[in-house]
Amino acid sequence: MRQLITLCLALGLCQALTAQKQPWQGKFEPIDQLITAPNTSRTASGAPSKAYWQQRADYKIKATINTQNNILSGEETITYYNNSPDDLTYLWIQLEQNINRKENEDFGSIFGNIKNNIPTRNMQFLTRAIDFPAGYTIKHIKDSEGNSMTSMVNNTMMKVLLKTPLKAGETLNFSIAWSYPITDRSMFLLSREGYEYFPEDKNTMYLIAHWFPRMAVYNDTEGWQNQQFQRLGEFALEFGDYDVEIEVPDNHIIAATGVLQNSDKVLTRKQRFRLSKARKSFDKPLLIITPEEARENEKTTSKRTKTWKFKAKNVRDFAFASSKKFIWDAQAYKFSDHTTMAMSYFPKEGLPVWQEESTKAIVAALEVYSNATFEYPYPAAISVNTSNVGMEFPMISFNGGRPKNGKMTDAAKERMIGTIIHEVGHNWFPMIVSSDERKWMWMDEGLNTYLHQRTVAEKYPNFKSTTPQSIIPYMSGDKSIMRPIMTTSDSESLMRIGSNFYQKPTVGFQMLRNSIVGKELFDAAFKEYANRWKYKHPNPADLFRTLEDATGSDLDWFYRGWFFTTDHVDMELDNVKWFKVYEEQLNIEDQHKKKSTKIDSENKSGKATDFSNGPEVINMTTTPDASYGGFLSRIDEPKLRKQLANKNIYEITINNKGGLVMPVTIEWEYTDGTKEIDKLPAQIWRINEYTATKTFIKEKEVKKVNLDPNFEFADTDIKNNTFPKTATKSEFDSFKEKQ
Ligand SMILES: [Zn+2]
Repeated sequence: MRQLITLCLALGLCQALTAQKQPWQGKFEPIDQLITAPNTSRTASGAPSKAYWQQRADYKIKATINTQNNILSGEETITYYNNSPDDLTYLWIQLEQNINRKENEDFGSIFGNIKNNIPTRNMQFLTRAIDFPAGYTIKHIKDSEGNSMTSMVNNTMMKVLLKTPLKAGETLNFSIAWSYPITDRSMFLLSREGYEYFPEDKNTMYLIAHWFPRMAVYNDTEGWQNQQFQRLGEFALEFGDYDVEIEVPDNHIIAATGVLQNSDKVLTRKQRFRLSKARKSFDKPLLIITPEEARENEKTTSKRTKTWKFKAKNVRDFAFASSKKFIWDAQAYKFSDHTTMAMSYFPKEGLPVWQEESTKAIVAALEVYSNATFEYPYPAAISVNTSNVGMEFPMISFNGGRPKNGKMTDAAKERMIGTIIHEVGHNWFPMIVSSDERKWMWMDEGLNTYLHQRTVAEKYPNFKSTTPQSIIPYMSGDKSIMRPIMTTSDSESLMRIGSNFYQKPTVGFQMLRNSIVGKELFDAAFKEYANRWKYKHPNPADLFRTLEDATGSDLDWFYRGWFFTTDHVDMELDNVKWFKVYEEQLNIEDQHKKKSTKIDSENKSGKATDFSNGPEVINMTTTPDASYGGFLSRIDEPKLRKQLANKNIYEITINNKGGLVMPVTIEWEYTDGTKEIDKLPAQIWRINEYTATKTFIKEKEVKKVNLDPNFEFADTDIKNNTFPKTATKSEFDSFKEKQ
């Protein structure tokens, strides 16, 4: 090595090493100190180990909606399996409904400034002025012998004390009886569940979610999940089997996680017949309840009730919707060893777009996500229409988007279809690949948005979908308020979660796939991650490690920049120098002509701004013997000089102004009108993180050089990407101006 360094000094090649005046930031150093270390449960390659363990909770629930006072009450028996190697002296239970209590902090506070003119609803978000008896009443907690168990409530979580520790490998049965007032969804900001009232026909649609006390996650890297629910950071839940009975007025229709067990008791003969036909309808949805029937049903009143029975296997949650208003359609989707029912439930207010588009969008998601990861395993995939938001649960999602007077703009329809694809897609992330949403929103939203955008691009090519260009306005934003993707869910502003937790990871995966790792390797690695962690609890480290392990790529530089900083990409094409080699074989006269074209490309300011000065003619001299060191052989130098004669040699210098190290795509526009692309890997920034110089040999003469011509890297300023510097406006600039 020493000899090499001497050589490089002797030849003056060490400019890159010495020219750097700014501090080295270690952009290619390993991120081991920034992520959770591997342990006995998680391997260094990013997979669950043979010793991986995970807790499990099965639920038997009986619940009733009292539609007179909107109170939901229930009793549940939890069977908790302690698969950990630890003895547990207490359990933690999630009580998310307690968020609606006035004293619990939530995201209403984003409207923290009182203004002269403040919408009354915002004042409600801010102050919770409406007196509302929110949260759980816990009626009892009993062990399997019927003895009361001691508990303590800390806001949205409850600690249940055990008289004797639950030993490693043991199972515990206990029951909780509870009730809570269902909230009016319009009362709270970011309300994922509750009821929606329709004043015109005096009907209610219940969207019931995070409704029963649920086991908190206990795992190998966190112990008990201990972050409170503050409405933004969602859920961390264990898998299990569910056996759920729900009592509602007998004119209600229920859509729920799982498979209906007593259709003969709750559906009419006609509905059952239509459903059996829909199970064989693979090309289009069939109506189980028609709009006319739903219109009739919503006019009825009844004091009688019906109990709907559902079972769901290996899910991490259970949600349902109940109303008199539902129109219902269903279509079958065939997988290799099972059939899934894609189903939509919507009120007449969703017509006609919901009948035309909802189930079709479910099917699009089932197809693209299954190909990209693993086949959708569950028997149902349901989309229920709501007034707003999009919210996901296993097998069922609540999706906003309704026409006004039967009409919907194209943009609103795109949003609605995008929402349905997105929420159905959440079945993969986090409902099956079950990351901790409370802690890392980007892990489910980012991965899901990445596949959601792929689904839109593949199945709805006329729609707008996210590309690296989409993130440019965010990436060029005010750094003082930006946070890295690796920020916990509740520490990001509601205004920026979309950009930081959904779009930025999506664009990161797009860059890895399309421009850094390559489609084939990246797709296989993404699939590997999904399959390694399905029905398990991955951490960011497991994703980072798997993508490296399965692609054979050190991506730490990419994770470090894209996930752990708020730096952006801004490459500046600082200079392009044009050279030609002095040709010994030319006669004196020609050589003189050639030499006379030599104009110093390094003018007084140090740089040429275009190619008008022509090439600088350089001499290639015979290499001194000393440079060959111990070698007795010599390369054929005259031949090499001959080979390079007449070629155009271009030396380009690029400055990294944004801070993020990225590959560089160079587009050469030749004087004959043709174009060519060269790609430099991100590693060109390894030694000097601020400036990189690279030499190219071209047959043709170059007219113009452009960096990132296909907008692959979200370069925030493309005005400094071209040479000659006086270049005309790029297509992107004109495009932006038109906007
Ligand atoms: Zn989402």
